[in-house]
Amino acid sequence: MATKRALVTGAGGFIGHHLVKYLLDKGYHVHGADIKPPEYEDSPADKFFLLDLRLDWNCREVVEGVDEIYHLAADMGGIGYISGSHAEISLNNTLINAHMLKAARDARTRRFMFSSSACVYPMYLQKKPDVTPLKEDDAFPAEPEEGYGLEKLFMEKMCQYAHEDYGIATRSVRFHNVYGPLGTYDGGREKAPAAISRKVASTPDGGTIEVWGDGLQTRSFMYVDDCVEGIFRIMQSDYAAPLNLGTDELVTVDQLVDLVADVAGKRILKRHDLSKPQGVRGRNSDNSRLRDVLGWEPKTSIRDGLSATYPWVASQVAMEAAGRAKTPVAVAAE
Ligand code: NAD
Repeated sequence: MATKRALVTGAGGFIGHHLVKYLLDKGYHVHGADIKPPEYEDSPADKFFLLDLRLDWNCREVVEGVDEIYHLAADMGGIGYISGSHAEISLNNTLINAHMLKAARDARTRRFMFSSSACVYPMYLQKKPDVTPLKEDDAFPAEPEEGYGLEKLFMEKMCQYAHEDYGIATRSVRFHNVYGPLGTYDGGREKAPAAISRKVASTPDGGTIEVWGDGLQTRSFMYVDDCVEGIFRIMQSDYAAPLNLGTDELVTVDQLVDLVADVAGKRILKRHDLSKPQGVRGRNSDNSRLRDVLGWEPKTSIRDGLSATYPWVASQVAMEAAGRAKTPVAVAAE
């Protein structure tokens, strides 16, 4: 059987980099594309395109000759970045997504997976910490996260229309808070598990860390290995409508801090900063449809995932403290 060829956009990013490795392990010939190389280690992709996917002609170049497109490139970050950059995020992601989908159509790509987000779900369903898990059909009537979530929701619709009108096998996968080693942990775009791991790693035993909000806001978190396996399984399925991909193990942000401290073997006190953005009050994933479609769902517990993530973040923090540069990075070429 001929080797399948995949393109991963956002291959210089956290999930995209893990996905490149996963697809290579599955025997795929993998091309990566991103405006930057991976931050912490080299990309093992067979070919890596370093270019800007907001530009139509770059999208045309990268889709050439591939069977499956895993489209993860996006301007995104943690809640501080998402809530403070509506214009930039919606403009950049609209350009990237429209050009990628058009290029895929023109190249007659058979399968196209879009990385959507739990941020598409309506704010009015997420006002309490003890939230009812969100089902796919809850996305409408819509009131998504401003900017980032609204744009994701519209791209889901564009994928649906491309499926109906052009016959492309599109997939829209709604990720819920992904974390793991090699994820951004500083600089303002990091998510809660990485940010908390960094703060705990840089604080001595018995010290205090700052926690955004009152710490009672709830989320579920998915370990990155589960995320890439889920992406692959959904791509190979015949299910074209949006699907949640997350865990339903709900924790408060305070519990997340306690778990990280426990994994680190430190006593850590919290100082809550109510002036900082905390996003929706509570959010959880309902995985019923995912189970129906795949007979599978993410299984890594938050404790096990943090046990793999914290040591990696701590080693980066220690390296920086020792004055050494982050792991050097080079880009693989064909
Ligand atoms: P990431 O920021 O690490 O990766 C996104 C990549 O897209 C980055 O490497 C970035 O350089 C690249 N990119 C941005 N603009 C570009 C451009 N103009 N041209 C080319 N590349 C560009 O984020 P991630 O956590 O790996 O997320 C991957 C995807 O999953 C994104 O679409 C994101 O919206 C979605 N998602 C992630 C999470 C999460 O918890 N990490 C949750 C929901 C959805």
